[in-house]
Amino acid sequence: MDKCQIRLQKHANNFSQSEAIFEMSQHSNSDNNPKTSHFIRNIVIADLDSGKHQSIKTRFPPEPNGFLHIGHAKAICLNFGLAAEFSGLTNLRFDDTNPCKEEEAYARAIEKDVRWLGFEWDELRHASDYFPDFYNFAVELIETGKAYVEELSAEEMREYRGTLTTAGRPSPWRERPLEESLDLFQRMRVGEFEDGRFVLRAKIDMASPNIKLRDPTIYRIRNIAHQRTGDEWHIYPMYDFAHCISDALEGITHSLCTLEFEDHRPLYDWVLDNVSVKAHPQQIEFARLNLDYTVMSKRRLKMLVDEGLVDGWDDPRMPTLAAMRRRGYPPAAIRNFSEVIGVTKSESIIPLGVLENEVRNELNTTAPRAMAVLDPLKVVLLNFPEGETEWFEAARHPQDESMGTRRIPITREIYIERGDFMEEPVRKYFRLKPGGEVRLRNAFIIKFVDLIKDDNGEVIEVHCELDPQTRSGMPESSRRVKGTIHWVSAEHGVPTEVRLYDRLFNVENPLADKDRDFREFINPDCLSKVTAMVEPSFIEAGGFCQFERVGYFCHDAQDSTKEKPVLNRTVSLRDSWAKRGNK
Ligand code: ATP
Ligand code: MG
Repeated sequence: MDKCQIRLQKHANNFSQSEAIFEMSQHSNSDNNPKTSHFIRNIVIADLDSGKHQSIKTRFPPEPNGFLHIGHAKAICLNFGLAAEFSGLTNLRFDDTNPCKEEEAYARAIEKDVRWLGFEWDELRHASDYFPDFYNFAVELIETGKAYVEELSAEEMREYRGTLTTAGRPSPWRERPLEESLDLFQRMRVGEFEDGRFVLRAKIDMASPNIKLRDPTIYRIRNIAHQRTGDEWHIYPMYDFAHCISDALEGITHSLCTLEFEDHRPLYDWVLDNVSVKAHPQQIEFARLNLDYTVMSKRRLKMLVDEGLVDGWDDPRMPTLAAMRRRGYPPAAIRNFSEVIGVTKSESIIPLGVLENEVRNELNTTAPRAMAVLDPLKVVLLNFPEGETEWFEAARHPQDESMGTRRIPITREIYIERGDFMEEPVRKYFRLKPGGEVRLRNAFIIKFVDLIKDDNGEVIEVHCELDPQTRSGMPESSRRVKGTIHWVSAEHGVPTEVRLYDRLFNVENPLADKDRDFREFINPDCLSKVTAMVEPSFIEAGGFCQFERVGYFCHDAQDSTKEKPVLNRTVSLRDSWAKRGNK
């Protein structure tokens, strides 16, 4: 018996089935992140224990009208993660019941993003697969007197519907003979009427305290071709009618959605109770993810794209998964983030820093190291022979030997970061300064000699001497000085475009002020480009890395070429916003 079987055996003896699976999953969780329990997981455990379900099935149901964002990642990780944990299945279903807005290109992008996050669906479905079923169930409702064809205008319907404090009034068409409704509905389907002429309404309760139950519209006329079914249909079902039936037809056991659907739940249940579909999935609502300094609706993100305020859906400043991929966020960091923020019933705004920390945690273990100088200042090593190159060998990763080593060239002229030299140092400044010494990372200690300024008084060159006794293997190789700085050989460094990103918005909640448009709060400094000098080993290797003391960077998959590399800063080493006192 292998270890896994022994564990299963032990659990079979001592625990219920679901507990055994739960324990198992803790061991097989690839992200090394212990699963924290939450109310939806508890419901699943209870349903498996009670025998209500033998196994679970969830679904992720995006509308293909834009790219997925980090909020969707929460729903993806929850649906796919929960099912996987309990050996269940998850469908990817395109909620494509709204023909004018949806595009196939979005659907392809969504598939790519789900897979990139590390998940694989059981079945790929489209709500439009069920158009004939929706139609038949609607006919059933008419035949049992539970739906009628309405001909009040949208405005009249609103007026009849009543308010939160007053009951609605029945429409004069509520008691329309069912044969007439059937006939009209059939003719609506084949395109006899213009848009808006009629709708089909469920006959529930015009006095219900829940306005959603006041005879909701379940079908409307749209004389428009659908991307998958062409002009076969001239009527399209509403979300509340289509979604629950789709769930039931696919054998979904737990239908997870965000809190704004809480008052739709009685309608979800009503439809399933009143049509002859067999299964009855349970709708469970959880709080959506909100991040600070971000907007998170596809509609608003699309405005930014369409108006050219960003450079496409995958512009690295966007909160989309495509942007995060391009920027170098590892999918494991996003999965860990989803775990860390948890699943609750109360809305909150999560600081962006929480996500960035997960990115740092992940990259700290996976990113090879290199050196780059973002704001170069020339340093001449006066006692280093002109025209010569010395090579140092350095680990690619300080903790992970398996990454091997890299060779770093040094020459008489090098670049250091402008911020690592101060002519008139502040107190406790331990980097290079007049009269001072500093260690060049991976190389040796250098000592200040003098400097050259341009006509404006700006330092353009610093002259130093290296201490040969501090090279690796020499007697003073471990002599300590207070500062260590990074550097790049002026001759070998590769001038490289580096894109530095900051938050897309400069206020915590760009939607908070109802009188102002969120686009007014775009951070004018959210992108800056610099020409950095980069260690050649990284440019040759491609991919991603940590520039020591600077941050995490990756080659831009879109714009980077061998001849002209372009790098994105994935995330800085520390949260610079925390320093600014902005949280
Ligand atoms: P958007 O307003 O951005 O278009 P949506 O909810 O309309 O969002 P859908 O494509 O319908 O987008 O969403 C697919 C699934 O993702 C739904 O189950 C939805 O509840 C979930 N989802 C969307 N946004 C978030 C979020 N911010 N946090 C958690 N889940 C979300
Ligand atoms: Mg939507």
